[in-house]
Amino acid sequence: MREFEQSLLILQRIPYKDSDLLVLGVGALTGKELFRARSARKIPNKWKCSFSEGSIIRARVMKLNNYHILTGVISEDYVPAKHDLSLVLALEILARLPSVEGSLFDIATGFVTSNREPGDFDKFLVQVMIKEGLQPSFNRCVMCGSKREGFPISVSVARGGYVCANCGGGELEITEADYKSLLEVYGGSGELTGQMRKYWLDHLEVALDAKLLAREGAA
Ligand SMILES: [Zn+2]
Repeated sequence: MREFEQSLLILQRIPYKDSDLLVLGVGALTGKELFRARSARKIPNKWKCSFSEGSIIRARVMKLNNYHILTGVISEDYVPAKHDLSLVLALEILARLPSVEGSLFDIATGFVTSNREPGDFDKFLVQVMIKEGLQPSFNRCVMCGSKREGFPISVSVARGGYVCANCGGGELEITEADYKSLLEVYGGSGELTGQMRKYWLDHLEVALDAKLLAREGAA
């Protein structure tokens, strides 16, 4: 039983028992975990913290057997002024990933505290998927391994990337402009073309085996 401090990005707040709250968050040290905040729904509230989704807090945490409890909130460092759809979608993606390492904390909070322009979301999406090993393959055929030649190329959502003509091709086309937009986002600037963003999100949905509910209208 050990108490420590860490910054925490709050993904979901879930009412629990009479007046407790379960907070699903990404901690800089712990990665994604459920944290129990005792009496956090009591009024008046000793916590002086809204635990609102998308906020970043500095918290004291104690690990008890297999779960974590919050023992104090030191500061509420960031609270989103509004929950635009790209924020809701980013939080949903993090909530649905099977696990999120603490090393994703900076990428996640970098997006949450940005202006949340389309390019900011794209950078978040691409970086998270690469860190999680979920990125599509565009350089070699995912079926036979043969090298891609020129653009446009045929890609498949279900198969995870480029499928050469010998292997039957995919159901979508990626152009040179689509691929260039991806290289720009890798490099830290620009934004994905609509087709490229849709392809990464389709790919993520297949990898998560789930429909992203916030996706409509967000990206
Ligand atoms: Zn092939």
